[in-house]
Amino acid sequence: TPAVRLDRITKRFGGDNDTAAAVADLSLDIAPGEFYSLLGPSGCGKTTTLRMIGGFADPTSGSILLAGQDVTRLPPNKRNVNTVFQSYALFDHLSVADNVAFGLKRAGVAREEIRRRVGEMLELVQLTTFADRKPRTLSGGQRQRVALARALVNRPAVLLLDEPLAALDLKLRRQMQIELKQIQREVGITFVFVTHDQDEALTMSDRVAVMNAGRVEHCGTPEDVYEHP
Ligand code: ADP
Ligand code: ADP
Repeated sequence: TPAVRLDRITKRFGGDNDTAAAVADLSLDIAPGEFYSLLGPSGCGKTTTLRMIGGFADPTSGSILLAGQDVTRLPPNKRNVNTVFQSYALFDHLSVADNVAFGLKRAGVAREEIRRRVGEMLELVQLTTFADRKPRTLSGGQRQRVALARALVNRPAVLLLDEPLAALDLKLRRQMQIELKQIQREVGITFVFVTHDQDEALTMSDRVAVMNAGRVEHCGTPEDVYEHP
């Protein structure tokens, strides 16, 4: 069973059948544990596709299945999916540990269990010694890793990442690409990664869907895509 299945998804903004569709009759399957990238130029429909998987937008037609279950009309909190946004959206008044713990606290998880899981996550993203710091005292790459830890701590089946490295300078971005890939391997969670950077998609992914004008033009391993760009 695919972790994510999009079955003939179309998204129109405005409802009018004459408007060009942002996403047009798009189908794809993402396997459990896969690092899967949506690659393509600005405006091709990557973010819209990601938002529909996350439940932040509804398709005009078509269906979305997560682990075989139709979630097309379920809200984000019923989907076992988390998102890392480009802006990180960290809470500046909370420590790094409390940022990571936030969702678990709200879900009523016991304090000892929270400490254990937050500790595990901080270790995973190598921020153990920064647990008590405030996000604004960290570097961009470190803040990115806090956002990642916060999104992984409740063990979602699927993690959606929308250009999470776009705000970093090139050197740091290269380093984070490697780290992010290692973390994904370690946790074994399905990652769906949006980028307009071909090198980035080819470096990190198990498979890449190359999008253009709301459609998948080509889908395959980085080697396939490199040979048929
Ligand atoms: P990408 O992520 O590949 O840059 P998007 O998914 O953001 O592309 O956008 C795809 C198309 O849908 C674009 O033409 C964009 O202008 C349009 N679009 C995206 N969001 C909205 C919206 N909320 N309202 C109207 N049009 C939108
Ligand atoms: P509270 O703030 O609820 O009184 P604590 O002081 O024990 O409880 O911890 C604050 C929150 O942050 C808890 O959810 C805790 O699990 C987590 N936390 C704080 N510091 C660390 C740390 N160094 N490693 C792991 N988790 C931590």
